[in-house]
Amino acid sequence: MSTVETPPTAPPVLAEGVTKRFRQGETVVEALRDVSLTVRDGEYVAIMGASGSGKSTLLHTMAGLTRPDAGRISVAGTDLAKLSDAKLTRYRRRTIGLVFQAFNLIPTLTAEQNVTLPLLTDGRGSEAGRRLDPLLDRLGLTPRRKHRPDALSGGEQQRVAIARALVTDPALVLADEPTGSLDSVTGQAICKLLKELCEEQKRTIVVVTHEPSVAAWAGRVVVMKDGRVLTEFRPAEFPDAPALTAHYQHVVSAPAK
Ligand code: ADP
Ligand code: MG
Repeated sequence: MSTVETPPTAPPVLAEGVTKRFRQGETVVEALRDVSLTVRDGEYVAIMGASGSGKSTLLHTMAGLTRPDAGRISVAGTDLAKLSDAKLTRYRRRTIGLVFQAFNLIPTLTAEQNVTLPLLTDGRGSEAGRRLDPLLDRLGLTPRRKHRPDALSGGEQQRVAIARALVTDPALVLADEPTGSLDSVTGQAICKLLKELCEEQKRTIVVVTHEPSVAAWAGRVVVMKDGRVLTEFRPAEFPDAPALTAHYQHVVSAPAK
């Protein structure tokens, strides 16, 4: 008699030995050097590091926007290198929700039209009616839905951008410095919202930031330096934000081994 075992579900993100080089004139910059990282289902992970440490490049490889020179990225068990350009585009549209520092909203469209756009480009416009109202409601945007971006505050614009990232119901949300253009109070409200979305909706969230006050919201912080993963820690290990900041500054300023 044999027992049927359910296969273990693949982690949302598995990066193994990822290397990425960029040519800048005569020199070659190693943006990522042998980076390995696993993000588990439902995790809220922050990737921290100074400017130029490779955070955005790592996020872009996860999003399938950049192909690594070496190593492998799998998302939910799919090796991104094996996808054709057409399949990669579909992957980006369906599996990933992307949020950037610049909200990248289309200025001539209203908030709700901006949010609906990814469904239209994916041929799923018929889902808009069902998805839009609860999403705008959840993000507190219902009273602002008919406004264009120039009539919205920075925090509202970022909430529209988050709604746009969520409208296709992606398993993985990738955010690159999502609070970088916001004042600290609004930025903290966005961090809280991302954490709630992770907990309520079981989405996996990866946030890139150089700000300890943003990383503090994550369940786990991965620290990058010079294209490498230096270390990781859990914000819960620290009594308060200054202690977390001090630890972060200590690890990034330590001389390389
Ligand atoms: P971070 O997001 O941590 O600030 P990045 O991933 O943007 O860092 O960049 C890492 C390094 O790679 C930097 O030295 C940057 O100048 C370089 N880099 C990133 N993207 C490109 C590109 N498209 N062309 C050339 N160099 C790049
Ligand atoms: Mg960056």
